[in-house]
Amino acid sequence: MRLLVFDDDPMIVQLVADVAGQSGWSVETATREAEFRTRFAAGSPDAIMLDLQLGASDGIQQLQFLHRHGYTGVVALMSGFDTRVLAAAQQVGQSLGIRIAAVMEKPARVARIRAVLREIETVAAMLPDPPPTAPPAARTRDEAITPALIAAALGGGEMELHFQPIVAAGGRSVCGVEGLIRWHRHGGLVRPDAFIPIAEQDEAVIDQLTRWAVTSGVDCYRRLAALGLAVPIWINISGMNLHSLDFPDEVAALLERAGVPSDAIGLEVTESVAMRDLGAAAVILTRLRLKGFALAIDDFGTGHASLEALRQMPFSSIKINKSFVDHLQSSPDAHAIIKSIVDLAGSLGLTSVAEGVDSAETARLLTELGVACLQGYYFSHPLPFDRLTEC
Ligand code: C2E
Ligand code: CA
Repeated sequence: MRLLVFDDDPMIVQLVADVAGQSGWSVETATREAEFRTRFAAGSPDAIMLDLQLGASDGIQQLQFLHRHGYTGVVALMSGFDTRVLAAAQQVGQSLGIRIAAVMEKPARVARIRAVLREIETVAAMLPDPPPTAPPAARTRDEAITPALIAAALGGGEMELHFQPIVAAGGRSVCGVEGLIRWHRHGGLVRPDAFIPIAEQDEAVIDQLTRWAVTSGVDCYRRLAALGLAVPIWINISGMNLHSLDFPDEVAALLERAGVPSDAIGLEVTESVAMRDLGAAAVILTRLRLKGFALAIDDFGTGHASLEALRQMPFSSIKINKSFVDHLQSSPDAHAIIKSIVDLAGSLGLTSVAEGVDSAETARLLTELGVACLQGYYFSHPLPFDRLTEC
C-alpha cells in the first residue's frame, strides 16, 4: 500500500515515514505544497497523512484539493492544535466526501503512529461509500439601490468604528475591545441594525464593509499597541462572509500587510448565522482558526445551536446573549440559563463573555456565576478611538 505523508516539519515526516516503512508501507513524503501536489498527481496514493498547519497553506486547502480531484483513498489528519480543531477539520473533510480514518495529535509517539496506521488499514480494507458532498452554500442576491448607498458611504469616509471595552470579570482589566460600526449621516448617527441587513443583500457590499471593519480594527490595534495598551480587537463578521472561500486568506493578507499578528483580531459570528449552513461555515471558520484568529460565537442562547454543532465548530469564546443578562436579576430562568452556558463554556474550554452588562449588581452576579469577561454600558458605551484611550 502507498502512503503519502505531508507535513512542513521534516522531522515529523521522517518519523512517520520510518514507522510506516517498518510496518510494510511504501512511503512518499512532501514538506511543501507543490511537492505534495506533484507526488499526488504522479499516482494517487492509497492513504495520505496530512498535517493541518502547513506554513503558507493549510490542511483544509489540501482536503479541498483532494475533493476537487475526487480522491477516494483514506486520510489521517495530524495537528499540534487542540482536539476541537482536529474534530472540526475531520468534520470538514467528511462533509467534502473524504474518508478520514483517524486524527492524530502532535507530538505523537511511535506507538500512536502505529495505531493510526492500523486505523488507516482497517478503513481502507472496508472501503465504505464516501458520505454525500455538502450542498453548495445558499446565496441571496438583491440588486436594490440601498447597498450601493452603503458602499458609497464606506468609500466616502462616512463610516466610523466605535470601540467598547471588554473587561476581565475578576480584576476588571481590559482584555479586549469590540469594534461596532457607526454611520455618520445627515448630521446624525445610524446604528448598524438599521443598515447591516441591507448591506448583506449585496455580497460585494458586505465584503467591502467587513474588509473596512477589519482594517479599522487593525488600525485601532496598532494605535493601542503604540501606547503600550495592545489588546485583541473583536470584529463582527457577517454570515455572508462565510460563503467566500477566499475570506480567511484575504483577512490574513490584510493583517500581514499591516504587520500585525493574527491574535490582534478576533472575529465574532452570530449563533444563528454560524448554524445556518454548518458545512460551509465550518470550512471557513476552521481555516480562520488555523491561521491564528480567535473566534467568538455571538448572541449565544437564541439561535438554536445544537450542542453537537457547537462541539464541531472551532470557537474560542461564547458571548452570552444580552437578553439573558437583562433578566438576570429578575428571572431565575435567565440565571439558570447563564449558569448552564458558563458550565458548557467551561467544559468545552471556551471563554465566556457576557454582553449588555449595565449595572454593578449585574456585573457582581455574573462574576459570581463564573463568567470570565464582561462588556456593557456599566463599564463603557462604545466610543470613538480618541475617547476610548481616555478611559
Ligand atoms: P452585537 O454584536 O450583539 O453588539 C452588541 C450591541 O449591544 C451593540 O449595539 C452595543 O452598542 C450594544 N450594547 C453594548 N452594551 C450594552 C448595554 O449595556 N446595554 C444595551 N442596551 N446595549 C448595549 P450596536 O452597536 O447597535 O450593534 C448592533 C449589532 O450590529 C451588533 O450586535 C452586530 O451584530 C452588528 N454590527 C455592529 N458592527 C458591525 C460590523 O462592523 N459588521 C457587522 N457585520 N455587524 C456589525
Ligand atoms: Ca458582537
